[in-house]
Amino acid sequence: MSQDILLIGGGHSHAILLQKWQDHNINQIHLKLISDTEQAPYSGMLPGHVAGLYSYEETHIDLRRLTKLAAAEFYQDQAIGLDLKQKQILCRNRSPIPFDKVSLDIGSTPTITSIPSAKDYAIPAKPVPIFLENWYQFLATVEANPNQSRNLAIVGGGAGGVELALNMQQRLQKNSNSITIHLFQRGKELLPQQGKWVRKHLSNLLQKRGIKLHLGEAVNAVFPDRIVCESGYNLDTDIVFWVTQASAPQWIAESGLTIDERGFILVNEYLQSVSHPFVFAAGDIATIKNHPRPKAGVFAVRQGKPLFQNLQRTILGKPLKPYHPQKHYLSLIGTGDKSAIASWGNFGFHSPLLWHWKDRIDRQFMAQFSRNH
Ligand SMILES: Cc1cc2nc3c(=O)[nH]c(=O)nc-3n(C[C@H](O)[C@H](O)[C@H](O)COP(=O)(O)OP(=O)(O)OC[C@H]3O[C@@H](n4cnc5c(N)ncnc54)[C@H](O)[C@@H]3O)c2cc1C
Repeated sequence: MSQDILLIGGGHSHAILLQKWQDHNINQIHLKLISDTEQAPYSGMLPGHVAGLYSYEETHIDLRRLTKLAAAEFYQDQAIGLDLKQKQILCRNRSPIPFDKVSLDIGSTPTITSIPSAKDYAIPAKPVPIFLENWYQFLATVEANPNQSRNLAIVGGGAGGVELALNMQQRLQKNSNSITIHLFQRGKELLPQQGKWVRKHLSNLLQKRGIKLHLGEAVNAVFPDRIVCESGYNLDTDIVFWVTQASAPQWIAESGLTIDERGFILVNEYLQSVSHPFVFAAGDIATIKNHPRPKAGVFAVRQGKPLFQNLQRTILGKPLKPYHPQKHYLSLIGTGDKSAIASWGNFGFHSPLLWHWKDRIDRQFMAQFSRNH
């Protein structure tokens, strides 16, 4: 009997799943992808694109093409609700789409809702298309008048915020010496999840590049031309980017799926919802029970293959295969100048050689999506 499998979101895990589906198509399965964008950004190369080291095409996966090669259907739309009783997904622009099995890989967005004015005037790092549109616009404004002094603020001093600051600085210095980047971090230290060497090295590097660090400063209001911190500190700003802790959309919690304390879908080691076995999830939106990990692209990439295998196995009535995410992983942070920092536990290393290595890995990853059948 034919079955409808619905993929929601074209994140890294689903891109890999679709790529593998091309060679392992199952008859009588209708595979469909709903994505709010046709071009899915690859997180590993996105900071490099911001720095001007990669083009848009080099850093984006063409989802329409990928679904076509997998003999799947592509719907460009935004999922806004999940009806678990009727087994259908609610979309912003079309009637509900029914499914037999559903898989979610919709990523996460920086937490912005707690500060209403930030929602109005700050630009979250995700969704990426909106972030990039604002970044290109800012670059154009700077190019038009490079001598005007401007303040660019980044709120959030985790890996994302620090990487953006370094990559934006490299791109901006090509056009202007009049822009000051300010990085705001609520805690007293940047990158609390990284080891001591990396934290210290990055803090020195940011300062060497002229990036102003505001540690222990929690931004609590954003206005069109200024931001205000809890301490009362004020800064006139021309643009504010928001890169705080990852969060999940409200409709996930409202669906009735079992979630973790931050609103992400709780899945078992088969990447299957702990409450609803016909629902699978991977990437940032999923938290694996007993194996929580940071929300990072490296895990979304690793989960692509087990997600693909388990979705196929569940359809074929075969036992599912457990997936255990690695505990320690190498994180590579690009510094925007064709150099990168490797961080492994408490150890770290900064070198152009690491950039070349990272560049090769990232290009190989992207190459799999452009091969023709
Ligand atoms: C500034 C920044 C820099 C980062 N740099 C790195 C890095 O260098 N290395 C790294 O490993 N990680 C990095 N990360 C983290 C990384 O971006 C995420 O962990 C990774 O993208 C998660 O992949 P994913 O597959 O879960 O989702 P995503 O890559 O976020 O993809 C989700 C997709 O689903 C779509 N979507 C979302 N909601 C819906 C909906 N309702 N309906 C339909 N489609 C939807 C989105 O448009 C998107 O295409 C960075 C994050 C930020 C914010």
